[in-house]
Amino acid sequence: MKVCGYAAQQAKAPLSQFEFERREPRDFDVMIDIQYCGICHSDIHQVNTEWEGANAFFPMVPGHEITGIVSDIGAKVTRYKKGDRVAVGCMVDSCRKCNACINGLEQYCTGGGPVLTYNDEENIDGGKKMTTQGGYSNKIVVDENYVLVVPEGLPLDKAAPLLCAGITLYSPLIHWKAGPGKKVAIIGLGGLGHMGVKIAHALKAEVTVLSHSFKKQEDAKRLGADKFYSTSDPDTFNSLEGYFDLIINTVSVNLDMSKYLNMLKLDGAMVIVGIPENQMQFAAPILVGARRSIAGSSIGGIKETQEMLDFCQKNNIVCDIEKISIDKVNDAYKRVLNSDVKYRFVIDIANSLKCNN
Ligand code: NAP
Ligand code: ZN
Ligand code: ZN
Repeated sequence: MKVCGYAAQQAKAPLSQFEFERREPRDFDVMIDIQYCGICHSDIHQVNTEWEGANAFFPMVPGHEITGIVSDIGAKVTRYKKGDRVAVGCMVDSCRKCNACINGLEQYCTGGGPVLTYNDEENIDGGKKMTTQGGYSNKIVVDENYVLVVPEGLPLDKAAPLLCAGITLYSPLIHWKAGPGKKVAIIGLGGLGHMGVKIAHALKAEVTVLSHSFKKQEDAKRLGADKFYSTSDPDTFNSLEGYFDLIINTVSVNLDMSKYLNMLKLDGAMVIVGIPENQMQFAAPILVGARRSIAGSSIGGIKETQEMLDFCQKNNIVCDIEKISIDKVNDAYKRVLNSDVKYRFVIDIANSLKCNN
């Protein structure tokens, strides 16, 4: 089936209009008319091939914060019907057999890894492989088990970034038990970070934003932060020594990790969700001296993603977005790199992508 979208033809190239093929819906597939797609910093890392050892399939149509309307279903689909409001996040399949998959942790699938929504390969009939392509496009075809329901009340545009930014913060906040009495810091008030503030606040934790300038101070409070510190002020690191139970690091570049780890209390944990290009470093005594730990976390499983969407509906949480037409995507990439977006770009696909199919 012919579809169209915006692709980078090669590494680091600007995105431009591109026609490509998707599979026809199979028995368990849902076809979705994409309405909106968020721009995640991971899209930029991948177009620029910044992650060592990661896939680099070009032409690449990025986009894994997708919302839309079901336009067709395969013969055996039971969970969705035409007209349903749905979403697709970072994964479109996984082995479904390994322990991780059985336990709803498809993002950690050990049977070959999850199939990512774009910049990956999926099996199609006859043992052939097809490159996956993401949500900067007019239509997508996804197995119903990897499609989410967008609850009534969540607008499709402001909900789109929940599919990556939202779940990437919800999952570690739940796993590390953010809640009443817990002091949580979010480093970096970007797409991920601003969702972290909203969700941690709704979980009733004390939330502190650690930002690299003072520019976002007012916003941080408006979004639900109890406290705000700029890490450009050296006093920040002294006054917060040993303070936090949990620090979530969303920053897309390397930080002086030891200084941040020193802000954890005894048994505190830093969870890394930002994925900078280069390796991280820290001084071992900083961990050893207070039984601190460093961990990582990747998006969330399918069941947990649905749980997060329902949680956001109940708590009136949506993303703060700047809606753009698709021809502005290259400018938007530059602005994300300058931390100049409040707080997520969302592409208005339905109203700005003109396809001949
Ligand atoms: P983003 O919107 O660009 O936010 C990153 C934030 O980091 C910025 O808003 C800024 O916050 C801070 N920052 C940027 N440059 C900095 C610098 N030079 N020094 C200090 N702080 C700086 O990006 P995002 O979409 O939230 O993604 C963040 C990272 O998470 C990316 O690396 C992305 O690939 C990764 N990611 C991981 C997962 C996962 O599953 N683990 C999922 C999605 C994304 P302040 O201005 O407040 O300092
Ligand atoms: Zn993402
Ligand atoms: Zn698996």
